[in-house]
Amino acid sequence: MEVSLSPLSAAEIAADLLVVPVREGHDPGLGLGGVLGQVRFTGQTGEELLLPRRDGDAFRAGAVLLVGVGAGGDEHAVRRAVGRIAPRLADYPTVAIDFPHPRAVVEGVRLGGYRFDGYKSAPRRGTVREVIVLTGEDAGADGRREEVERARIVADAVTFARDLVNTPAADLVPMDLADRARTMAGTYGLDVRVLDAGALREGGFGGILGVGAASANPPCLIEVSHPGDGVSGRVGLAGKGITFDSGGLAIKSLAAMSTMKCDMAGGATMLAVVQAAARLGLPIGVTAVVPAAENMVGGAATRPGDVLTHRNGRTTEVTDTDSEGRLVLADALAYLAESSPDVLIDAATLTYSVMHALGEDITGVIGGDRGLVGELIAAGTRAGEPMWELPLWEPYAERLRSEVADAKNEGGNLADATIAALFLRPFTAGLPWAHLDFATTAYLDKATDLGPAGATGVMVRTLVEYLESRSRAGA
Ligand code: MN
Ligand code: MN
Repeated sequence: MEVSLSPLSAAEIAADLLVVPVREGHDPGLGLGGVLGQVRFTGQTGEELLLPRRDGDAFRAGAVLLVGVGAGGDEHAVRRAVGRIAPRLADYPTVAIDFPHPRAVVEGVRLGGYRFDGYKSAPRRGTVREVIVLTGEDAGADGRREEVERARIVADAVTFARDLVNTPAADLVPMDLADRARTMAGTYGLDVRVLDAGALREGGFGGILGVGAASANPPCLIEVSHPGDGVSGRVGLAGKGITFDSGGLAIKSLAAMSTMKCDMAGGATMLAVVQAAARLGLPIGVTAVVPAAENMVGGAATRPGDVLTHRNGRTTEVTDTDSEGRLVLADALAYLAESSPDVLIDAATLTYSVMHALGEDITGVIGGDRGLVGELIAAGTRAGEPMWELPLWEPYAERLRSEVADAKNEGGNLADATIAALFLRPFTAGLPWAHLDFATTAYLDKATDLGPAGATGVMVRTLVEYLESRSRAGA
């Protein structure tokens, strides 16, 4: 899909479809005020009206789609409004959009228009060939073009993450994920390294190996780096990469298991973020590490009571084989910490606890570093991805006490999001660290304004925002 900017007005632009916002109680111009009165279109958010051009109309486009935007709107409202109508734009090869905030317009079109239909036998519907963003006089300004180019890169990254998460688990086993990462890294000139099961054994990655033990598809660790300029510092990202989570011997119910192809969303997110960092040419270095394993049932499965030894020598008694995400993340964080990045951030579809606490809109963030947590929440606010902090409540660490190992991997049902974070902390080597738990927000069973049901790609835009602000601060 091409995106272009045009200085022409809504009346002047020639396109198959023209999309125009209508504020509540306002005349959209184009000589359509009378028609809107006839059909009681008031401009409330969610109202839409599609009109073909008739003789004498004061616009050149083949049809006009009027979109109610209520009292008007900031860029978040624009992104959502454009996202909502985006699925229907596919019927028109060229679409002109007369909304403010070009970056939000491009993100809305791309995210809202996202489809994952490669597994359907029926031919795909049409696609938008060109989106023309009407920006008035400054269409040619460098800042405008950069803004749109940035939006395209970020939307590409969200799409990349969504595609990985939506891919059925049989077609995305750990080494498939590694292959996708290699291909992506090759395309954008990133450094990539994959540790296979043999290298994981040599390297002492007992958590990843233990979780992947029963799978016919061996585990691996994927590392992709954007070097940055070497002086602006480096951020270490770890993303949970459980390509399918059956629960292991503590097997899940069918209802709980049915969406578990999504359990590598943390890894997909971090791969997408490093891709965007490279394409945006950020000066800051970014290293993404994805511990990838399939948590399955079988004769070689890790048993409740087994003890695993992690990368940093710490031991875990596995008292719940379904609390596997923290086992693989422990190895990944310990490994990342060895190269002493300035901060560590991990993302994981980790606990039901965060679902009960924060629901389907809000991503949980937990960390010991006040500054980092605050910066991430601020980045989420700028991206329109709400986050809320949950406590790293020290006294609960007692619940992880094991009789036979340094810790056990679950501490009961209460405050499990906090317990999981407390489990991970000893693997962060005292570095500034924040943990994102998006067990609910990464994968939804219903459509939103910014995409269909399934993978959301949430946190990609937030983390890119964070890296950009950190790059600016360091510049
Ligand atoms: Mn699990
Ligand atoms: Mn899991």
